[in-house]
Amino acid sequence: MSGATKIEFCHMTVNPLVGCSRKSPGCDHCYAVTMARRHGGNPKTPQYHGLTRMSIGGPEWTGEVRWVPGVLEKALVGLTLCRTSKRVFICSMSDIAHEKATLQHLANVYAFAAALPRHKIILITKRPDLLLLRTRALMERLENFRDTWDAARKQLYDACNAAARARFSVNRDSKSALALQNKAEAIGILYADVRFPLKNVMLMATVEDQERLEERIEPMMELAARGWHTGLISEPMLSGIDPDRITISNEDGSGYNINALEGTAWDEENGELSTDLDGEVPAKAIEWFVCGMEQGPGRRLLDIRFAMARATECAIAGVPCFFKKDSYGRYPAQMPRHFPEWMLCDGEAK
Ligand code: SF4
Repeated sequence: MSGATKIEFCHMTVNPLVGCSRKSPGCDHCYAVTMARRHGGNPKTPQYHGLTRMSIGGPEWTGEVRWVPGVLEKALVGLTLCRTSKRVFICSMSDIAHEKATLQHLANVYAFAAALPRHKIILITKRPDLLLLRTRALMERLENFRDTWDAARKQLYDACNAAARARFSVNRDSKSALALQNKAEAIGILYADVRFPLKNVMLMATVEDQERLEERIEPMMELAARGWHTGLISEPMLSGIDPDRITISNEDGSGYNINALEGTAWDEENGELSTDLDGEVPAKAIEWFVCGMEQGPGRRLLDIRFAMARATECAIAGVPCFFKKDSYGRYPAQMPRHFPEWMLCDGEAK
């Protein structure tokens, strides 16, 4: 499924990767598996066939993760011709950093983002360690992965060219055909030497409780230190979390603390730790915090004061906070809905 969405922070979703497996308590009421189950019975959406099975507890993933050819290409053509910029959430029906997803899949998505610098691309994962591993590989050793990157570009280049040719065959002066031809040329030439990090991509990790925050914060702060835009999404927020005081414990008993809103780190013995890429802890502040309560049947209720406290901390630290909904599907007027400035689209006020 790709297209318009009810997800409040984006204009559309694009799903070139489908299928997943549960990772942590935030997956207990996964909406994607329910959707995939529904679409799996529809002959018009064959990409979902066989991705789920029924269990006593309801729909369950079979564990298959599938790349759907043509989805990114179709979205590229549409977004190239779109008059206004959009926030696009890629992979709402999977996890782009899933164990069974590949470096090629991630490269395909990054090539898509590089080809659409006007639009804001959002990726969300519960596996930021793998996202970091694969992103670092592309950033540091692109020459080793030249075939991967070129394959990613080629499918987009071919799609733009084909769409341009089809339009030219109907109208020799077609403006949309010209726009697509120009885009194909840019993909063919400009993005061969892509510069990572991509400035129109927001990488986010889901942190449903403090345990998951402690598990997942380090790769996100390293991605931030490497220059990527990074954020945290606490949806479903299952308990109070403290992004401004996260304790990282090592197996040898040592440890340190991180303030993810300020990008600082410290330990009890040495005080503040250096946080650049060569320092003790590669850590920079996250740029965006999204939170929202679980919805639907069997939802785990949470007092909205937990979210309000996070919103206040974000305001103090200058980190934009976006609150989605409370446990009853309501949007309380006092809760913020802010974006980092670069994520604002055409016609949106600061
Ligand atoms: S990672 Fe996301 S899509 Fe995958 S099972 Fe968990 S909630 Fe569902």
